[in-house]
This record gives sequence, C-alpha cells and structure tokens, in this order.
Amino acid sequence: MNAVNNAVVVGAGFGGLALAIRLQAGGTQTTLLEKRDKPGGRAYVYEDQGFVFDAGPTVITDPSCIEELFTAAGKRIEDYVEMLPVSPFYRLCWEDGSHFDYVNDQEALDRQIHAINPVDVAGYQRFLAYSKAVFEEGYIKLGTVPFLTFRDMIAAGPQLAKLQAWRSVYSMVSRFVQDEHLRQAFSFHSLLVGGNPFATSSIYTLIHALERRWGVWFPRGGTGALVNGLVRLFQDIGGRIELNASVAQIETKNGRASGVRLEDGRFFPADAVASNADVVHTYASLLNQHPRGAQEAASLRKKRFSNSLFVIYFGLDHHHSQLQHHTVCFGPRYRGLIDEIFKGNALADDFSLYLHAPCVTDPSLAPPGCGSHYVLAPVPHLGNADIDWEVEGPRYRDKIFEYLEERYMPGLRSQLVTSRIFTPFDFRDQLNAHVGSAFSLEPVLTQSAWFRPHNRDRELANLYLVGAGTHPGAGVPGVIGSAKATAGLMLAEARA
Ligand SMILES: Cc1cc2nc3c(=O)[nH]c(=O)nc-3n(C[C@H](O)[C@H](O)[C@H](O)COP(=O)(O)OP(=O)(O)OC[C@H]3O[C@@H](n4cnc5c(N)ncnc54)[C@H](O)[C@@H]3O)c2cc1C
Repeated sequence: MNAVNNAVVVGAGFGGLALAIRLQAGGTQTTLLEKRDKPGGRAYVYEDQGFVFDAGPTVITDPSCIEELFTAAGKRIEDYVEMLPVSPFYRLCWEDGSHFDYVNDQEALDRQIHAINPVDVAGYQRFLAYSKAVFEEGYIKLGTVPFLTFRDMIAAGPQLAKLQAWRSVYSMVSRFVQDEHLRQAFSFHSLLVGGNPFATSSIYTLIHALERRWGVWFPRGGTGALVNGLVRLFQDIGGRIELNASVAQIETKNGRASGVRLEDGRFFPADAVASNADVVHTYASLLNQHPRGAQEAASLRKKRFSNSLFVIYFGLDHHHSQLQHHTVCFGPRYRGLIDEIFKGNALADDFSLYLHAPCVTDPSLAPPGCGSHYVLAPVPHLGNADIDWEVEGPRYRDKIFEYLEERYMPGLRSQLVTSRIFTPFDFRDQLNAHVGSAFSLEPVLTQSAWFRPHNRDRELANLYLVGAGTHPGAGVPGVIGSAKATAGLMLAEARA
C-alpha cells in the first residue's frame, strides 16, 4: 500500500473545493490548482461598475451538504457565510399570462393547484410522496456512495426497479398530474442539472422533495460569497490554493499518478491526484501521455452530453420590483423545444428562459436603486449544433432582451448599464468543457451511478474524479456529494 500524505486537486469548482476541504480536514496536505484567476468554476463571479454577477448556480438547495463541509473541518458555517431563504422558490410564468408561485407552503400550493385543476391537488400529494421515496433512496442512501463495481449497481437494482427508475421524469409526473402547466412545473427541475425531463430517469424527481425538505437558499453577497467562504475555510485549515495555475499534464510513473505539471512548467508531486476538470479534458488532454487517457477519452466521446447554455449577465439602472428572485419563463413549446435543445442541430426560433434577479434577496449586488440580473436559455451543445456563436451570440442576446422587455421587464434596453454574454464557445474554451456542455454527461439512467465515470479511475489506482462528470452528477448538491464519495475513497487509502 502506498502512503498518501499529500494530494493535488485539479480545478476549484464546487466539487474540487469540497473535496480539497474534506481531504485537508482528514489530514492529507492538499493543493488545489485552478486555471482561471478566480475560484468557483461554473460559479465564477463577474463584477462591473458596482454590479456583481454570479455566473452560474443561484438556486442553492440542500444547505446541509454545505454545512457538513464546515463541520468536517471543525468550523461553523455562520462564521464564513450567511444563507438567506428564498421564497417563492421560483415563479413559473407562461405566455398566456398565467403564473405559479412554487412555495414551501402546502396550503398555498394546494390553493394554486386547485385554481388550475382541482383533481390535481390529490395527484400532487401522490407525486410528492413518490418524490420523497425516490429522494430517500437516490439521494440520502446512494448520493454519496461511490459506485465502483457492478455489484454496487446490482445491489441498488431492486429499489430502482420498484421506483420505476426506467420511466422519464415527465412520464412519471404525468401519471399523477393532469394539467399541462402543472406537468411542466413539476418536471422542469431536471433541466437544472442538464437532464431532459423526457429522457432523464424519474429518479431526478427527487429534486422536488429535496427542495421541499430543505428549501431554496441564497448566500448573502451571492453564490460567489459561498465560494469565497469555502476557499477561506480550506486555507484556514492549512490548504493551499493556486489560481492562474492551468494543469497541462497528470504525470504517471509505474502505473500511478505521480503529480501534475502546469502549463508554465512547474511540477507538483503528489501521492494522489483528483481531477475536478471536465472528464473528457482530463482523459484526452491531461492524461494524453498514458494509454489510459486515449482509451477512456474514446469511450467517453461516445456518450451523450448535456445541453449547453447561452447566458446574458446584465446590469440596469432600475430595480424591477415586480420580479421574483427566480423566474422560469416558459416559451410557447415545452416538449418540442426540449427535443430540439437535446437532439436538434440548430438553434430553435423560440426559447424558454431562466431569469435571475438576486437584488430581490440581496440589494447589495448592485448600486442603490439598480438591478443585477442574468438570463439563460438552454441551447444545443456544439457536438450537435455547429453554430457560430461569435455571430449568433449578439443576435440571440438582442432577441432575448426584446422578449424580456415586452413581457417581463418594461424599459429594459433603455435601462441597460452593462451586459456580457457567455456562449457554448466559452464553456468549451474557458472551462475546457467537452462540446461546450454546461453539465457534463447527460444524466440518463444508462450514464448514472456505476455507468457514470467512476470516482476512482479503473487502472490508475491513485487517480480520482470529482464533480459533475462522476457519480452522482451535476448541480451543487450533486458535485458536493461526489466530493464526499471521492474523499471517502482517498482518505481510506491514506489511512490504509
Ligand atoms: C449557468 C449555470 C447555472 C446553474 N445553476 C445552478 C443552480 O442554480 N443550482 C445548482 O445546484 N446547479 C446549477 N448549475 C450546475 C452547477 O453549477 C454545476 O453542476 C457545478 O457547479 C459544477 O461543479 P464542478 O465541481 O463539476 O466544477 P466546475 O464548476 O465545472 O469547475 C471545474 C473547474 O476546473 C477548472 N479547470 C478545467 N481545466 C483545468 C485545468 N487543465 N487546470 C486547472 N483547472 C482546470 C475550471 O476552470 C473550473 O474552475 C448551473 C450551471 C450553470 C452553467
């Protein structure tokens, strides 16, 4: 057995940060290497003229998985970050002018469901019970267990079969709820982790129960404040983080990872290496000097990848008090649009949007009387749709601004102080994301649990994965769960 005294983690996304904290707290001297100038990965922060824009995750669920990181390190979360409750969790809006406020108050939910379709009140109760059962099985029991062998998968099989995990999210919701708007309201959640509600396993309905159980939260100062809190925690317990540290190679010796070499030539020796970078990038680029790299990359490239996103960050000299913190703006089509996003080879004419208005919860994210926002549209990834985003990006931005101004934010374009876009090209080039996918491998049943890239490499026994591309998958609770699974393996090796 090889002693593990020090480890290197490549990438400071939520997964890399959570893993680094757990390793450092467990007694392994850990170095975190991040290619960009700020930590956070998808949770990067842009700042301009007093506006603060969280680049990615804004719906923070399961605060307990975050709190656990502080507890594991012997610290208190309150000393690092303040979590604010958000209500409604989301406002869901349709083009016919109707909306649904998804809140954590049963009576208010029943009232709204009853007004839409009375029989769906009882149907929703049955859906909630199902979602809770899936949550217990899929999240509490299996969410942080590394599926290293097929035996692990077989052990989970009977329960997955009982919960009809082969059904899609939408088909399961439709068994309980009749109204089309309500079906959308209770099935869109898988899109938050890159899952097509018509293809992703009904296991992902667990997100509904997870939100009902712990609520939806937002850190004071934005998601970036949570990232900074985790960095400070890691440093306070002795961890070392290097920014602008792009890893070029995971070096190997005698069938084991021996350390990593940066693009600037510096070498960091390590007893164990974990990659939080994109899984295809990890194998195809970082391991390109070992046969395992090309072999695994070829197999990964055949898998299905999640959609990409088109995001506009924009600051206005006006606060739109009619908005809620989180708004989902459903377009004219649901299934048809989702089909085109996941399988189409071009940009659809219509879109559905997620609109973020964080100043509703924390006005400090913009100058007084102003508003920071982002709006995103799910779009096909670059492997499916060969779109020139240099050309299409500005056009698409204008089209989305026009739509928002007409339906949600009157006067938007005349109030604009600053804006920037993030396209599938940026996911590819800035985050090294294969085909510009926003969420890594698509979370379908045949690419989940044991079928997903494992938390520890099959051949290089001291090479590990953490983050959206490994078990359990994307989303902040998912990647923090992956860190728990991976840290369990690494610390067990360290203690052996
Ligand atoms: C716009 C958007 C909105 C989202 N909203 C939500 C939400 O509201 N709630 C939610 O739960 N989830 C949300 N998600 C999903 C969630 O953000 C991600 O699944 C999660 O943050 C991914 O974390 P990760 O640990 O896999 O790493 P990532 O965030 O992907 O970070 C990986 C890091 O590795 C670095 N890296 C890559 N290559 C190298 C290299 N060679 N050397 C050094 N470093 C390298 C990258 O720069 C990056 O910092 C959203 C995602 C996006 C894109």
